[in-house]
Amino acid sequence: MKGSRVAGMQLMLEDIRAEVAYTRSMIGRDELSEAVLVAMSKVPRDEFVPNDLKAAAFDNGPLPIGHGQTISQPYIVALMSDLLALHPGQTVLEIGTGSGYQTAVLSRLCQTVYSVELVPLLADAAARRLADLGYDNVHLRQGNGYEGWPEHAPYDGIIVTAAAPYIPEALVDQLKPDGRLVIPVGAPHGRQELMVVTRDRHGRTQTENILGVAFVPLVDARGAAEQGV
Ligand code: SAH
Repeated sequence: MKGSRVAGMQLMLEDIRAEVAYTRSMIGRDELSEAVLVAMSKVPRDEFVPNDLKAAAFDNGPLPIGHGQTISQPYIVALMSDLLALHPGQTVLEIGTGSGYQTAVLSRLCQTVYSVELVPLLADAAARRLADLGYDNVHLRQGNGYEGWPEHAPYDGIIVTAAAPYIPEALVDQLKPDGRLVIPVGAPHGRQELMVVTRDRHGRTQTENILGVAFVPLVDARGAAEQGV
């Protein structure tokens, strides 16, 4: 790794640790799993941000990636990855590929990552970037994430990286028994709650509220039609 990247990465990891400690009473943990922190340390965030924002690549904040979308804040990426509690042999579905950054982090935490992105240009750019960087256990598709990706279901975990007004039933249906759905739920551009939905062996679900968050909205079917889906 380049020297500036190593230094930036170190600061980013320190910021994540500090924010985890600061929010410990809300998120119910003092620290994130070592596996998540190692995965975060191995993914070069500077490769996922636009050229003119490289200097801010390791700041602990979201950054614009075009098309009105953002690459999520590193703390949130780490926290959501931790909440999924993935194991090496498992399969995860991500809704909202965006830059592909969260996809890359997940690819280091489990066996196979499927990811769905609505905006064709973002989906294409992420596919190229992830292939160039050698993430070969990820499968991407352009489409409307409200429907999940039924062909590869069920999943051990599903993560939604845009805010939904409600918990989409199709996503819960695509979880394995004991699978976990990590999703921000709430009004678009308003306050949202990061939730973990767990599905037990009998198909019963349990929902846990984790933390107030601010995500770009998960675009609905009408918006999806405008993107040709
Ligand atoms: N995980 C991304 C975050 C991107 S922001 C990253 O690390 O960069 C959320 C993404 O969700 C945007 O790229 C947006 O285009 C996408 N999105 C919004 N509505 C969607 C939908 N209905 N289906 C799939 N993707 C959607």
